[in-house]
Amino acid sequence: MPTPARKVKSPPSKSRSKSRSRSRSRGRSTGKSSRSASKSPARTKSKSPSRTQSKSPSRASRTRERTTVVKKEIVVTPTRQSTRIADLVDHEKKVSLRSVEQLKTEVRNNMADKKEKGKSAPMTRVTEFGGPIGAVFITLSLPLVMYYINLACTKAKCSILELPKMPKNPWILFDMEATLLFFGWLAFQAVLALIPIGQVVDGQPLQSGKRLKYRCNGFFAFVASVIAFGICVYFDVPLVKMVHAKFYRIMTSAILFSFILSIFLYIKARTVAASQLAPGGNTGNVLYDFFIGHELNPRIGSFDLKFFCELRPGLIGWVILNFIFVLKAYQDTGAFPPALTLVVAFQTLYVADALWFEDAILTTMDIIHDGFGFMLVFGDLAWVPFLYCLQPRFLLDNDPKLAWYSLAGIALLNVFGYMTFRRANSQKNEFRKNPFHPSLADLESIPTSSGKRLLVGGLWGMCRKPNYLGDLMMALAWSLPCGLTLLPYFYPVYFAILLVHRERRDGAQCQKKYGSSWNRYCERVPYRIIPYVY
Ligand code: NDP
Repeated sequence: MPTPARKVKSPPSKSRSKSRSRSRSRGRSTGKSSRSASKSPARTKSKSPSRTQSKSPSRASRTRERTTVVKKEIVVTPTRQSTRIADLVDHEKKVSLRSVEQLKTEVRNNMADKKEKGKSAPMTRVTEFGGPIGAVFITLSLPLVMYYINLACTKAKCSILELPKMPKNPWILFDMEATLLFFGWLAFQAVLALIPIGQVVDGQPLQSGKRLKYRCNGFFAFVASVIAFGICVYFDVPLVKMVHAKFYRIMTSAILFSFILSIFLYIKARTVAASQLAPGGNTGNVLYDFFIGHELNPRIGSFDLKFFCELRPGLIGWVILNFIFVLKAYQDTGAFPPALTLVVAFQTLYVADALWFEDAILTTMDIIHDGFGFMLVFGDLAWVPFLYCLQPRFLLDNDPKLAWYSLAGIALLNVFGYMTFRRANSQKNEFRKNPFHPSLADLESIPTSSGKRLLVGGLWGMCRKPNYLGDLMMALAWSLPCGLTLLPYFYPVYFAILLVHRERRDGAQCQKKYGSSWNRYCERVPYRIIPYVY
């Protein structure tokens, strides 16, 4: 479509097109000057030269130039120009409205910072996970559990009851190439996270009232990673074979890095303002705070370490590991084993969903309550990618050859679980972002003294954690294709324990936040996770 500037060939049109392009690229300042010019030229004449000239004469003269050009244009072709001016004013209005909003958030954040400065953080009185002793026990035992389970499930056998063959020399589980692969993956994900694609979303208000900003480009990172994997496979890059061969060694790198990052995070947390500490991770006990997370939202510049680790390297890494198992099965047998392919499809859907709805994580416990310490770092970077792929790893070595109707039943369970999980999470997330959203109009909620409301309608009226219920159904669907071998059921069993404990932790925190309103909510919704059962 020809632009007006291209249509008009006479000299004035040149200056016109110049003035337009400048006004677009320098929206805010131009907006101010053109508005003041049109409203009160006298004021612009008498005031701005003296003020702006002393600072930057060229800007002042440019402003005058533009004002004159706008005036001239009105004389030449009134109708087209008035439309243009209206466009310009409209555009500038939008820009300034946006900047007013940004300014408001900044002012609110600065005020919150000032208010919090100098305040000492409230000490954490109640500990979880068995306090410091429990924290040390979990920190040391989780890596051992990871090795035990993975080494117990090999091509030769997969049994939790038989002690796996542990390597005599543990250094065999470490090598430099694997470490470089792991760091290369982290760096690749960090670069993807920094690409300015995707919405920038406000987090939930912090205790100070401040809201952090998060760039949500997780789904883009997921797609880019899958494409990069496809390219590697197409060009037969040895990377793919190497990852399969060095599974345990990459896992070791992830475990070691989790310790290093958690130590760094703890030291970093000691240098930040008290208002940035996690409410649950400030006991003064080094070991406990290191485990639970001392700082709530550690950032390097605007790069949020918790937000990055929660959904990127670990979750996407899990999917890529799964793809490598499917590829290996294809290379070994010339076919895609149905059970393995189905489970990998389920898990890919789970990860893709988490990244598509990335901003929903901003209302979860991990982001709003838990600090970023060993518990989350290890879970995100080591536990999730290297243990959640246990069923696909088992199915690569053992194809149980299930009948189609068994697979169909399992698929149905997964679909049902996914729908429950997604609907519950979306409802809560939407409700937290905007309780008056039209899609929630028929959902009942109860007020609390904090101003927030609690959903008691729809899925959230059936049980207190419908999202956990859906998640558990999916966990079971991922293990059922493994048939009667027990070890691949580790995930649903562990996950059920985790979610039961998590529901109680969250319940205790909500009780603290909402007091009697929470009690009322619990009376209205007596079941915790499974309606009529638990
Ligand atoms: P929730 O998403 O349920 O978030 C808990 C918070 O939601 C509460 O602290 C409260 O925060 C708010 N809330 C609770 N009840 C209500 C209500 N009735 N109405 C409105 N708001 C309410 O829990 P999680 O953060 O634990 O889990 C998020 C998702 O992640 C779940 O689907 C879970 O299954 C999944 N998950 C998966 C894991 C995995 O390893 N695969 C591990 C852990 C979780 P507030 O009122 O302050 O807004």
